[in-house]
Amino acid sequence: MGLENNKEAFDIIGDNHIGTSSETPMRDDAFKLNESEKIRLIKQDVQNIMNTLGLDLTDDSLKGTPNRVAKMFVNEIFGGLDPQKKPKASTFENKYQYGEMLVEKNITVYSTCEHHFLPIVGRAHVAYISNVTVVGLSKMNRIVDYFSKRPQVQERLTMQITDALKKVLETEDVAVVIDATHLCVSSRGVKDVNSSTVTSHFSGQFAQEQTKNEFLKYLEL
Ligand SMILES: [Zn+2]
Repeated sequence: MGLENNKEAFDIIGDNHIGTSSETPMRDDAFKLNESEKIRLIKQDVQNIMNTLGLDLTDDSLKGTPNRVAKMFVNEIFGGLDPQKKPKASTFENKYQYGEMLVEKNITVYSTCEHHFLPIVGRAHVAYISNVTVVGLSKMNRIVDYFSKRPQVQERLTMQITDALKKVLETEDVAVVIDATHLCVSSRGVKDVNSSTVTSHFSGQFAQEQTKNEFLKYLEL
């Protein structure tokens, strides 16, 4: 993008929550360190932040925070950066020849805004039309959860879930809608507590008005 020396451009991208790619931007050496090495380094970094803020790290209440945050970053809220944690693709043959739309609504989304490292909280609604394979319903939750556990931009999260489902289900007929609140918008900055952001991706048959509308109707139920 050639923005290396343009700090202002970086700030504009971050402030406006514009993602730069549908892939999570990662370096080639992202997994050179193992999990415990990452936790050790991040612990020191959190200590530095707390020290700089003037917090007393000898206080019993704060003592454990750097290690707790480091473990939480690596194992939990950013655990989805690790491709080894990607949910395994266990699909079943579509024996019933169920060729109708399957909709799973209100899948909980807990993600993190990559521009502020504050939570994105919302719901994902996912649909597909079965081709040759079907998946267990919990698999859809696990795919949503895996991609949510990364520093994210909501548009990219929507795309990544869509692409993963297409691959697993061997069909283009996939739709994903995410309705989420960004704490960086509601708790700071413009402090808009009532707004939420809706992103969607409709592919294959869902790009057709009739199929798309049928799906959106189910979301109203
Ligand atoms: Zn943000």
